[in-house]
Amino acid sequence: MTRPGSAGRAVVTGAAGFLPSELCRGLLARGWEVVGLDNFITGRRSNLDDLVVDPRFSFIEHDVCEALPVAGPVDAVLHFASAASPPEYLAHPIETLMVGSRGTHTGLDLARSTGARFLLASTSEIYGDPLVNPQPESYWGNVNPVGVRSVYDEAKRFAEALSMSYHREFGLDVKIVRIFNTYGPLLAPGDGRVVSNFVRQALLGEPITIYGDGSQTRSFCYVDDEARGILMLLESSWNGPMNIGNPDEFTIAELAQQILELTGSSSELVRHPLPSDDPRVRRPDITLARQVLGWQPEIALRDGLVRVIDRYRRERDHGRL
Ligand code: UDP
Repeated sequence: MTRPGSAGRAVVTGAAGFLPSELCRGLLARGWEVVGLDNFITGRRSNLDDLVVDPRFSFIEHDVCEALPVAGPVDAVLHFASAASPPEYLAHPIETLMVGSRGTHTGLDLARSTGARFLLASTSEIYGDPLVNPQPESYWGNVNPVGVRSVYDEAKRFAEALSMSYHREFGLDVKIVRIFNTYGPLLAPGDGRVVSNFVRQALLGEPITIYGDGSQTRSFCYVDDEARGILMLLESSWNGPMNIGNPDEFTIAELAQQILELTGSSSELVRHPLPSDDPRVRRPDITLARQVLGWQPEIALRDGLVRVIDRYRRERDHGRL
């Protein structure tokens, strides 16, 4: 039973992930009850510490490739289960393909059988190595279907296709968020993403590992902005894909410089080979999110990095970096 006064009951797969755990906090703050699921392949138990003490949050340890064991009413399914950082999905290629295909299927089936809306966590990776910059939702992308990154890119492309088929065939209320590089204090220091790597390396005085010549670009969105946009999309009447990201674009070399300045670190910069199929550019066109949701990011990269650095400093001082 949904409690009196509740905004509804939401199921969040991958709840122990960095971004979905923040979504769980946001949902609770907006009056939702939340059921979280995770199998901890890449999620972290510590991301749930503050959630499990809330009586409106419940947690089920479960592989979402198997039917979701959620009884009772459901008003929203947010499908976020997946490895998301390149080193993590490259280390779990089959699981990544399975959670994008079978896992999306179980989430869609739960939404269909309960009459819930369905929100799919998709990604800027569906644009591959884009030939158009910035990327609007109408761009079909440039993806190597058999390259190493395809385990993530094609899983998410399949997940989008499956979700849209449920929308067309069964009238399911489907929203697809295309998430662009998101960062924040709870990024796991060892997850291999560029912000976590560089901040960790700068604070430990280790060399900063620039892959390639550092001229490739990314557009970094602070987690609070990203989560707010996703929740606005969830509560909107929009169906189909929408980019949610920060359109301020930086080269990886510029990111390294900013982190060196903000940490006061004297770490040297070292070059490593560019991973295969690493996108040259990435920047969201957020015209649609601005028009439909009235959403845009508010936190500049510099301000967001300061918060990450504060947190990582504390972790370092406790020997946890
Ligand atoms: N990158 C880097 N050094 C690192 C980690 C990543 O230069 O230690 C680069 C990576 O090659 C890519 C960009 O930073 O061009 C963003 O990488 P990340 O793994 O964070 O996410 P992606 O956008 O590739 O999914």
